[in-house]
Amino acid sequence: MKCIFVTGWVLSGIGKGIVASSIGALLKASGYRVFFQKFDWYLNVDPGTMSPFQHGEVFVTQDGAETDLDIGHYERFIDSELNKLSSFTSGRLFEEVIARERHGDYLGKTVQIVPHLTDLVKSKVREGFETSGADVSIIEIGGTVGDMENEYFIETARQMGQELGRDNVLFVHVTLLPYLGASKELKTKPTQHAVRTLMSYGITPDFVVLRSDEAIPEDILAKTAYFCSLDRSSVIASPNLPSIYQVPVEFERQGVRMSVLRRLGLSDRGFDFAAWTRLSENIEASSESLVIGMIGKYNDLEDAYYSLNEGLRTAGFGLRKKVDIRFIDAESLESRDAESILRDLDGICIPGGFGIRGTGGKILAARYARKNKIPYLGVCLGSQIMAIEFARDVLGLPSANSQEFDEMTSDPVVHIMDSQKDITKKGGTMRLGTYPCTITEGSLAHRLYGETSIDERHRHRYEFNNAYRDRMEANGFRISGTSPDGSLVEIVEIADHPFMIGAQFHPEFKSRPTRPHPLFIGFVRAMVEKNDR
Ligand code: GLN
Repeated sequence: MKCIFVTGWVLSGIGKGIVASSIGALLKASGYRVFFQKFDWYLNVDPGTMSPFQHGEVFVTQDGAETDLDIGHYERFIDSELNKLSSFTSGRLFEEVIARERHGDYLGKTVQIVPHLTDLVKSKVREGFETSGADVSIIEIGGTVGDMENEYFIETARQMGQELGRDNVLFVHVTLLPYLGASKELKTKPTQHAVRTLMSYGITPDFVVLRSDEAIPEDILAKTAYFCSLDRSSVIASPNLPSIYQVPVEFERQGVRMSVLRRLGLSDRGFDFAAWTRLSENIEASSESLVIGMIGKYNDLEDAYYSLNEGLRTAGFGLRKKVDIRFIDAESLESRDAESILRDLDGICIPGGFGIRGTGGKILAARYARKNKIPYLGVCLGSQIMAIEFARDVLGLPSANSQEFDEMTSDPVVHIMDSQKDITKKGGTMRLGTYPCTITEGSLAHRLYGETSIDERHRHRYEFNNAYRDRMEANGFRISGTSPDGSLVEIVEIADHPFMIGAQFHPEFKSRPTRPHPLFIGFVRAMVEKNDR
């Protein structure tokens, strides 16, 4: 068993996930199978019920686990599917230990953080590695070293290093290299303390990754190595780059892949890195911005729609266009002159969401897109909004709504299915994870996907109401994707529109920077075509 533990110091949000993912991308490109796990310290049992305001988006894996947004980074960088063993919180682990204790599994012993909780973490790491068939597991520990909340994860990592041997376990420590404007200097002292702190837990890092806003000169790297008693090859520079998707290329330039392989005793199985170098070139060559209005509830919060933003931006790179995402508070469209805000957009996207707030504004935006033939992409809630708007305006049903927003509406074009009605408890009541979808030949969706059988990931409770299907279709609302038995509507389009499409699923969970999702490529292309017209 081979694993790499990734920790961080000084502050969160430093980019541990990107560092871990980039190392994963390099191993994958060298022919190795990589599995990823994230251990988070918080006591919520899963991120599914956490506010996107605080925690960013909920990323959904193919097997329907609601996970941390870092799992999305991992999948995007290694272009492989992860699963419910990829994301653990202290809440989930404590729950399991306590359940076992109640069940008598510990035979009356005193149940402790060490060894009971640490053993559980170890078993999860093993299970992830073994069931995924990976060659290497990369494990990111949430929070920073020195926090009281995640100490038992660090201790688990230490024990695994001891048990498996230093050829099989690597420690990567990501630290901040601040630049002091007043003295015009990059300061290595925090990193020296970071390494010392990690050592106080019994772990000597194999690699220290210096995160910096600036380019990092050689003398700083050498100095860091010297003061931390590390080889120079153990110190990796991670300056800010135009895009996070250039980090693997930057790491390769520094020889990180070969150092990691050497230390894990792995040979280079033939390196296939073309997709990453091409992506990096496309990023450099991207010019002329396209502006997408993201009409949502969580504004200015890049993280709340993270995978969607990344999917759209990377689709832009493929066409060498910069995609500029403008967050527009849906509620603000209700009270202000909506047209003056929407007029400047090249495309309109309505992302997934829950709750009634801002739906009026979203409906206005969908109407604007439909009437003015502006490229429109609706994701999950965005596709439901498309149906509501169309039913109200074209079918003349002013109270058309989703039962989520008006339980008693006389025209529930979006409703909760009978099969789901009994389940009322929050959490675990949603259609979650991968479902197959059959696409109608000759539709826009068919043109985009180039096939008729697809799989996509879901996370929602409500569905399009089939009672309205015939009337909607007779008036130009096209249902172009359904579950294979035809009962669930999965993709909708406006027939008389160059690009107005809504998906009940979340394409963003399957989009990869090196292989953007066909709906995103189609959306960006439609904007380019509209501007060329
Ligand atoms: N709130 C809607 C539902 O539950 C849409 C969910 C979403 O956009 N993810 O069906």
